Amino acid sequence: LIKVNNISKSFGDNTVLKNLDLTILKGEVIAIIGSSGSGKSTLVRCMAGLENTENGEILLKDKIIQNVKSTNGLIGMVFQNFNLFPHYTVLENLTKPCQTVKKMNSKDAKEKAMNLLKKVHLQDKFNQYPSTLSGGQKQRVAIARALSMDPEIIIFDEPTSSLDPELAHEVFETISTLAHEGQTMVIVTHQINAIRHFATRVLFLNKGQIEEEGTPKYIFEECTNPKLKKFLQIVD
Ligand code: ATP
Ligand code: MG
Repeated sequence: LIKVNNISKSFGDNTVLKNLDLTILKGEVIAIIGSSGSGKSTLVRCMAGLENTENGEILLKDKIIQNVKSTNGLIGMVFQNFNLFPHYTVLENLTKPCQTVKKMNSKDAKEKAMNLLKKVHLQDKFNQYPSTLSGGQKQRVAIARALSMDPEIIIFDEPTSSLDPELAHEVFETISTLAHEGQTMVIVTHQINAIRHFATRVLFLNKGQIEEEGTPKYIFEECTNPKLKKFLQIVD
């Protein structure tokens, strides 16, 4: 689905990604872990076309990603800070993009939006404004909104890092349900216990390179790489 071929990225003389390769298949749920500054956000932003790369290329379904436009709505992004439209109701946060981007009529957009809100268990909040929701609820609206674009892949960048544990748990329940339905996803997170049950592959990023990768069992239990061990001790 996505092929990252030998990309590098620097900010000034700070090299953030170094000759990185990555292939993501349909149905994979990839967790990206690594210390602060290791390049996790930069990598996923490059994949979403939000950042350009210096060399190499990123292909989405065999087409080169140059910018957000070239991802053609096939990649959905969910950020730490929800990014909901504050002046729209929960329902409108979903229906407006369906109408403008997907050119749906208002009846179809509404029906689709309500179905997605049901899926994230927020159908009764449809008429409220984001400011009246909890952080976990806001994040689930953001997930529903990403789903409304029918993305091939959803990328989450630390979706729960501004939430307390109980709310983070709600959000991971939603993400876990999507994983079981076969939605392709990439999740940047420090919450190792939350993802170990449904991630199909874990990447440990260190200084802009994939230092280790494997199943959750391998990465969290078996791998003896001292850098990884040290990192896991800190986040646990
Ligand atoms: P965190 O866990 O703190 O979110 P991260 O792994 O996501 O970290 P990145 O955000 O990818 O790390 O940043 C990697 C490096 O790139 C950092 O040294 C950061 O300062 C630098 N960087 C990121 N974005 C920019 C930017 N727009 N301009 C300059 N430097 C940047
Ligand atoms: Mg980051």
